[in-house]
Amino acid sequence: MTSVTTQNWYPACPICDGKSLSNLYVVDGFNIANCPQCTLVFVRERMTEETLQPYYDNPDQDVVYDDPGNAANLEYFYNRLKQVISKSVERGKILDVGCNQGQFLDLLGDHWERYGNELSPHAAQMAKQKYGNHIFQGTLANFPLTGERFDVITMMDVLDHSPDPIQELKRVNQLLKPNGLVAIKVHNISCLWAQVVKDRFYAIIPPFHLWYFNRATLTRTLARSGFKVKSVMFIGNVLQLKTIPYRLSRGKTNNLYHSLFKLLEKTPLGRIPIYKNLHDLITIIAIKESEVE
Ligand SMILES: [Zn+2]
Repeated sequence: MTSVTTQNWYPACPICDGKSLSNLYVVDGFNIANCPQCTLVFVRERMTEETLQPYYDNPDQDVVYDDPGNAANLEYFYNRLKQVISKSVERGKILDVGCNQGQFLDLLGDHWERYGNELSPHAAQMAKQKYGNHIFQGTLANFPLTGERFDVITMMDVLDHSPDPIQELKRVNQLLKPNGLVAIKVHNISCLWAQVVKDRFYAIIPPFHLWYFNRATLTRTLARSGFKVKSVMFIGNVLQLKTIPYRLSRGKTNNLYHSLFKLLEKTPLGRIPIYKNLHDLITIIAIKESEVE
């Protein structure tokens, strides 16, 4: 693994340029910093696609997300988001950033012209079987735009992983038509749960999650990328019982939560669906207000 030193720390807040940063916690060797000026919480070490790659190449990471049962439960969230988008735009050209195997695109229906990008070669291949050359395996920065720009771009569980969220959103801006819509889902670091459990909040998993947003910081990041927030929602999700101890284990195999996860995984009990809405997920719909360079 790449070692990280203070040499590659952010000298100022990447969102508001505030200089007085404080380090909150050290988690798995990474410094989690806070900007008192704008409330952004983020990984202080500046990561790049290259320094992140070894972590993503580890085959043990996040075994629950791709579990077929859990994927079925994610559909609850996808359906809600589809309803929300449909209120503003009923059809058109849509891009799902980090589309995985195309699960959200599948659910949208064929009155949409559906596109996606995906980093994982395996997932991208699965999506290509359904959407052909509308699926691009690679980063959003390299996404080849053909024809008209998009009416809608969705980013679910993407922005918190991005090495540079402002740059990523500027690319989204360039790919959208004037007044186009972006829908973003990230974890909410200001929810009560996160405030109570602090560094043990399940979403604090550096270097996978680099940015810990809330309503204010996500709004600010969007403003810097030419967007105006239209609505903010706290949509819950449905997960399987076994996912709860898995999330609490934070991907480690040497703790009690992981043992409980292993136990539940072997029984039908582990697949019981649980509806969860602790405002730990924030979904923002924003409109492209101005063109960015
Ligand atoms: Zn700041």
